[in-house]
Amino acid sequence: MISLVIPVYNEEEIIPALYERCTGILEKHFGDFEIICVDDGSTDRTLERLISYHERDKRFKVISLSRNFGHQAALLAGLSHARGDYIAMLDGDLQDPPEMLVKFYDKIKEGYDVVYGIREKRKEGLLKKLLYWGFYRLLGSISNVHIPFDSGDFSMITRRVLDVILQTQEHSLFLRGTRAWVGFKQTGIEYERNARVSGTPKYTFKKLFLLAYNGLFSFSNFPIKILARLGLLVLVFSVSYTIYILTKKFFIGGVPQGFTTLILVMFFFNGILLIAIGIIGEYIIRIYDEIRKKPLFIVKDKFL
Ligand code: UDP
Ligand code: MG
Repeated sequence: MISLVIPVYNEEEIIPALYERCTGILEKHFGDFEIICVDDGSTDRTLERLISYHERDKRFKVISLSRNFGHQAALLAGLSHARGDYIAMLDGDLQDPPEMLVKFYDKIKEGYDVVYGIREKRKEGLLKKLLYWGFYRLLGSISNVHIPFDSGDFSMITRRVLDVILQTQEHSLFLRGTRAWVGFKQTGIEYERNARVSGTPKYTFKKLFLLAYNGLFSFSNFPIKILARLGLLVLVFSVSYTIYILTKKFFIGGVPQGFTTLILVMFFFNGILLIAIGIIGEYIIRIYDEIRKKPLFIVKDKFL
């Protein structure tokens, strides 16, 4: 059986198209399937619409969260209710063509445990494209795990991979990172990412930055390691400079005036120190979130 998990947040206009397209493809190619739509605390008529489809078709299941927990948490909520042997994830706005699931499944049959989509072309604004491009390259160069470039959550995984992902219970959610981290046999397939069918993006820039932060800090120790290296560099520099000044003072004479230099150096290192404290703070926030063990999402209703 295939489970298709779709998080949605204020997507009332798309629900009918989403239902038709997904059931169409799954019926034709897979037979036995379930669709799990997670309503991430929508404030429009999304939930109502979802439930009306569930009443007509019990393969279409709905989970509603108690408030907006964000795309990653909603996705995880759906994943934790999936009962299939193979589990696929899709955005509710149909930017990622569900037709690709057939190709994903072919790869799974070849023995892969994770098949993800690689966004070959994006139909988004230039700034967003540039930021995405930069982020994935930065993450790639400093991350401890190889997280494939330009791949989102759009993917299909086997049951054993899902079980590992669900076990990790990590608070700083970055599912595409965890998916890469689990190992097994993985592959990607290129596809063209379409523009939204309708509606506006529900990922605000703030939410996107939060996601990027989670990716960087959860999958890399680089930010905190660079601090120690920077400190060492400064130490070496200041010791050499001290030796230079002392030699000059005692053997050559005439120590330079250097008031301006002093002020600049002070500003510079105070700036570095504040950034350093901020970076340590990021890790502390994450430690704090982990030990509080708050649930990542709260389910209000289930229509299974
Ligand atoms: N989404 C969600 N909760 C949120 C934000 C988004 O469930 O807080 C859903 C949204 O409805 C969509 C998917 O996540 O189905 C991807 O969101 P969006 O299209 O806004 O992201 P983008 O394509 O810009 O990355
Ligand atoms: Mg989208």
